[in-house]
Amino acid sequence: MTEKADIGVTGLAVMGSNLARNFARHGFTVALHNRTKAKTDALIKDHGDEGDFVPTTTAEEFVAALERPRRLLIMVKAGEPTDAVIAEFAPLLESGDVIIDGGNAHFEDTRRRERELREQGIHFVGTGVSGGEEGALNGPSIMPGGSAESYGSLGPMLEQIAAKAKDGKPCTTHIGPDGAGHFVKMVHNGIEYADMQLIAEAYHLLRAVAGYSPAQIAEIFRTWNDGRLDSYLIQITAEVLAHTDAATGKPFVDVVADQAEQKGTGRWTVQVALDLGVPVSGIAEAVFARSLSGHAELRAASRDLPGPRGTTLDEKAAARFADQVEQALYASKIVSYTQGFHQIQTGSEEYGWDIDLGAIASIWRGGCIIRAAFLDRITAAYASRPDLPSLLSDERFAQEIGAAQEDWRTVVAAAVQHGVPVPGFSAALAYYDALRAERLPAALTQAQRDFFGAHTYRRDDREGTFHTLWGGDR
Ligand code: NAP
Repeated sequence: MTEKADIGVTGLAVMGSNLARNFARHGFTVALHNRTKAKTDALIKDHGDEGDFVPTTTAEEFVAALERPRRLLIMVKAGEPTDAVIAEFAPLLESGDVIIDGGNAHFEDTRRRERELREQGIHFVGTGVSGGEEGALNGPSIMPGGSAESYGSLGPMLEQIAAKAKDGKPCTTHIGPDGAGHFVKMVHNGIEYADMQLIAEAYHLLRAVAGYSPAQIAEIFRTWNDGRLDSYLIQITAEVLAHTDAATGKPFVDVVADQAEQKGTGRWTVQVALDLGVPVSGIAEAVFARSLSGHAELRAASRDLPGPRGTTLDEKAAARFADQVEQALYASKIVSYTQGFHQIQTGSEEYGWDIDLGAIASIWRGGCIIRAAFLDRITAAYASRPDLPSLLSDERFAQEIGAAQEDWRTVVAAAVQHGVPVPGFSAALAYYDALRAERLPAALTQAQRDFFGAHTYRRDDREGTFHTLWGGDR
């Protein structure tokens, strides 16, 4: 009789097959299943010698191949396909079995699925997986939700296949009940959008204001990667900018259509933030910037609108400007993470997840797209003060952003003067200035609301709710 499998993976496209191989390479016996058998066969043919695989064809065979309590990982297209696969397998499972959904599901879907399967005694673990194809094979950052009991059975396996941070700690932890894992993965992706937008704005400024070539900017990014901006995204940006198109000999970045696409997790982050009332303006601007880039006709129709007459800087001023852009990028990055962590904190309170924010920063240090040296500082900030109201309240971040703010303003002002759009940098700066303002014009907004809609207002000098009988015709 064949050995029973420690885990089964159904859905063997890029992510599923690489995760299955990752489990097998760590000594686990892995049952394989895919809707169409060809992918199962291809995996066995190409990588069958990497470990113990149990290829199966039918759902019954797949479930029968699993050790009890069964652990079954679904890696199919998110949305209806995930529901279809759950409907196919759930009737074959027993109480105590664990279904893991590693797809990019919306956390509300995960909450619904978890509730429905719990009635059957099945643990449903909605799990964020970040790191793309390469991470899935060599170690992703893994964000499992679901019950603490399910993590007891699954966690040790995930800790083996997850990326390891520089201090050797696995990049996975139990995030919290039901949809907590997918929620955190969603915000991770939102932060990823913001990081990418800020990097794009830095590149745009270095090119349009400082007059550097893509190859020179690649060098600047390499230098930045040796400092506090050390991160996967800065590193790959340097590589992309140094790359020349083989067909034309032009910088690669100049032959790619300037229309960014998206799959939806950034949009979800903003939609959910609006519902929760959390200002994630940096992430929102990043989503809008991608959307705007895709409006080719609107852009073509607007091309002749006037803008400022820009002059590029001389060599010395350009070098100084590059340093200022580094400050602006770093300060804006602190704001993006402040906003993202605020959203996780609010989601955690809203849904009763009790998420450990420091642990989240810790498991993003390896494997995932936003991995960065910077995350160590976030972990340290929450370790020294677990009830930190905001990352900007951390002494070290406050000191760093304070030191950067003059240059940040210079960069945003230069962008405005040169007609270079920097929605990420300027939204981050506006957030910073709004938070530190002694008084906001929200008082005027509130008075207007009372004027036209009798919405009432509160006063700073007295308790209670007030309404003014406004005179005149309305
Ligand atoms: P994908 O292209 O999203 O999905 C393809 C897989 O889904 C195939 O195995 C396909 O089976 C299966 N499938 C589609 N509809 C199905 C249905 N109705 N019933 C059963 N199976 C169905 O694959 P992927 O890129 O490897 O991603 C898998 C999941 O991981 C997705 O949810 C994705 O969002 C998430 N994810 C992806 C990345 C990434 O970098 N790609 C990173 C993190 C998370 P057939 O072979 O039979 O068509």
